[in-house]
This record gives sequence, structure tokens and C-alpha cells, in this order.
Amino acid sequence: GNMGRVFCVGGNWKCNGTKASIAALCNDLQGDAVDAASCEVVCFPPFIYGTYARELLREDFQMGVQNCWIGKGGAFTGEISADMIVDVGFGWACLGHSERRHLPQIKESDETIATKTKYALDAGLKVMFCIGELLEEREAGLTNSVNERQLKALADIISDWSNVVIAYEPVWAIGTGKVATPDQAQETHAAIRDWLAKAVSTEVAESTRILYGGSVSASNCVELAKKPDIDGFLVGGASLKKDFLTIVDSYK
Ligand code: PGA
Repeated sequence: GNMGRVFCVGGNWKCNGTKASIAALCNDLQGDAVDAASCEVVCFPPFIYGTYARELLREDFQMGVQNCWIGKGGAFTGEISADMIVDVGFGWACLGHSERRHLPQIKESDETIATKTKYALDAGLKVMFCIGELLEEREAGLTNSVNERQLKALADIISDWSNVVIAYEPVWAIGTGKVATPDQAQETHAAIRDWLAKAVSTEVAESTRILYGGSVSASNCVELAKKPDIDGFLVGGASLKKDFLTIVDSYK
């Protein structure tokens, strides 16, 4: 991280795992303690395995959820509220992931994601707020405008960004093995920071961490981490393997 921004790495386990595979992963992820002043690490297991994973995962890795309900609890069958997540001691929610934005069975809107982010922040969670363009949007030169539209929905309704981490994840890079080049990622991260300076404040632009996500691996993380506006990673596939530790170590 630059400008005092603490490097941050998220592990998005998505809808993967069994008790046996999670126990094996937590064992594989043992290692030397991460220097909390230099790097924070958050794992996002599926809800149903959350407590189980918390018991087995090293204590210096934090815990989060991959989604939550848009407001307070009540008659919302099948949902889990931010207040419940805080109550069980989990600190983070990953919201606005591209799978939740784009899968036809889910299709969360910019407004839904922003509203649930505001509620989660007010409830006391930190939020990894995911944004990013589709391949056809990049090819049409719309990358920055898509990111700005997704961010504006949030900027319109929050003023305190201190518990927000932005995860820029180009959709064409997620789960495809087609990682953005370090220059491509840096260019987009710098554009996001410029937009924050203009639309929010220079202070928020300088202090808000912007993570890169999309086919981050043990072999490409070091070059990406060298870029001045890349403050960490959101990792999918590689977060289910020991490689996750190599990615965490790229803060060094
Ligand atoms: P990937 O996923 O690392 O498997 O590309 C990233 C993500 O979806 O957050």
C-alpha cells in the first residue's frame, strides 16, 4: 500500500467447500503471522460454513460474508441481516460482486447494492464493494463510465468512506485466467481514484484502498502489487489453495 494505505487481501470462497475441504484449507493456510500494520486479510466463506471456518482458520485472518440482506431483519425468508453478521463477530461483507450483479437468477442493481452497503456500514461492517466492467463494455471504451456509475450509486448515499474498500474486478478477468495486465489495472485504478477525488474528496481518494480482482494468482500478484494504485487483491479460485498465502505475502 502507498500513502499509508494498508494492503488488503480478500479470499472469496464463493459457493465452494465441504467441511472436509474447509478443514484442509484452513490447515494449508497456517503460516507466519501477517504484520497487521502492513496487511489485512479477510476470508469470505459461504454463510453456512462461517462459524465452522472461523473456528479452524488462523486468528490473524478476518472473516466476512459474501452477501447480506438490504436492511434490518424481519419477515425476509432465506435472508441474513447485517446485524446478525455483526452479532456473530464477523467484520466484513463483500457486496456487489459481479456474479450477484450479472447472474440472471440474481441481477442486483446498482441501487440495491448501494443501499445494502449503506445499511451494512451503518450496522458496523466493513464492506468490500465490488465494481467492474463486462468485456463488451471494455471493448466499447466504457470501463471508466461503468465503474463511475456503480460507485456513484454509493457516493450518492454515504459520506463516510472509512470502512469501504473498493474491489475493481473486470468481469472478463474473473475465473477466466485472463488477468488484467499490471498497466491495464493501474490505469483503471488511477481513474477510479481520480473520480473519487472529484466526486467525493481528495482525502477519500487518497485513503480508500482499491483492490484488484480477476484471475489473481501466485505467479502474477507480485507485478500487480508493485503498481502505486493497487492496494491489494480480491482472490477467487486461488483463495481455495495454499497459493493464497503467496498472494498475501505480495505486500512485502
Ligand atoms: P478469480 O475470482 O480470482 O477466480 O478470478 C475473483 C473474484 O470473483 O472475486
